[in-house]
Amino acid sequence: MESKELYQCLLGLNEPWTVGRVELDMAKMRVDVYVEHPNGTCFACPECGQACAGYDHVAERVWRHLDSCQFLTYLHAKPPRISCPEHGVRQARLPWAEEGSRFTHLFEVLAIDMLKAANIKQAAHILRITWDQAWHLMERAVLRGRAAKVDALPKKIGIDEKAIAKGHRYMTLVCDLEAATVEYIGEERTEASLTAYFKAFTEEQRSGIEAISLDMWPAYIKACTAQVPQAEDKMVFDRFHIMQHVGNGVDRVRKEEHKVLLQEGDDTLKRSKYLWLYSAENMPAAARERFDQIKHGNLKTARAWALKESLREMWSYRSVAGARRFWDRWYFWATHSRLAPMIDKAKLLARHLPNILTYFKHRVTNAVAEGLNSKIATVQKRACGFRNRDNFKIAIYFHCGGLDLYPASTTHRKPG
Ligand SMILES: [Zn+2]
Repeated sequence: MESKELYQCLLGLNEPWTVGRVELDMAKMRVDVYVEHPNGTCFACPECGQACAGYDHVAERVWRHLDSCQFLTYLHAKPPRISCPEHGVRQARLPWAEEGSRFTHLFEVLAIDMLKAANIKQAAHILRITWDQAWHLMERAVLRGRAAKVDALPKKIGIDEKAIAKGHRYMTLVCDLEAATVEYIGEERTEASLTAYFKAFTEEQRSGIEAISLDMWPAYIKACTAQVPQAEDKMVFDRFHIMQHVGNGVDRVRKEEHKVLLQEGDDTLKRSKYLWLYSAENMPAAARERFDQIKHGNLKTARAWALKESLREMWSYRSVAGARRFWDRWYFWATHSRLAPMIDKAKLLARHLPNILTYFKHRVTNAVAEGLNSKIATVQKRACGFRNRDNFKIAIYFHCGGLDLYPASTTHRKPG
């Protein structure tokens, strides 16, 4: 087989495109493949698809293609322009690359797979492209995937905030709880951050939302109430966030008690912060022995901890009525504990009780969102090179957006 035919096959070129010549540069380890078409070929108008006569050609362009046995391989062609009676002079679509891309579809597919598995720097190194080129491929993949996404709201969504490392800036994340994907990333954690997400949909689409898992954060509650019809029946305050609030109460009790004990020369609570934050079943074996000793002491912190651990049971009830009875008992216990931080937390939960109990109707939590959060932390860690927040967002959509990232002509490749 001649090299021209070989490349014709390798490139998957069809009529009217053929390989005109192949140049091999041994010193530079590169192959240049020149692609052409016969004179007088008609091409489809990119707007209407009508076959139109050629008009002229633009200057030759070059695309990076998959390497041929470690030889960098480039495709050269002069893109034809057609003259459509309706749409005027337009550049015809090329079967091997997207408009504006400097890489062929097949190279983009390889790059996307590489970027999924490695960080940008590593991927760029393996692909022998620059960091900026790799970044650009990632960005294009995300824009393509988001544009192709069906315009629908998930039935069950989770709303969470994400602190940007160092500094106290936040982002608002909306997740599809069923698909476990990040649907939206907003700036800050204000009402407007979340409203912007809902505003992209019609009221009818928004009323299709069945359940919303979120923290008791007033800005998010306001946005949901204003934008989602019957939000008050759909919002479920996430149990993990609730337990976090109560855990903070325990920690405040510990801090105060530790201070008092230290004044009496008692350092029982020294370096015990994390002991009290574990749930009973997640406690590392090494910590358990010490914990068992101090748990049974006469400490206020131990009473606060027992309150926190007991609250967990509420979510194991099968009916809202059972959970409600449990809550009444717990609330009485908490508010009579003489532990001010725990009383505060009990009252906070009491104010939000209706939408804590909606759990028993919808059974949603932010566990998926929390899982995505840790995936995002990995993206963040990998992304030491991210120059700004927009880049970081693109990377989150790339890794966590559940998007079809591949070029259109390769859509037989589904995201894995
Ligand atoms: Zn046309």
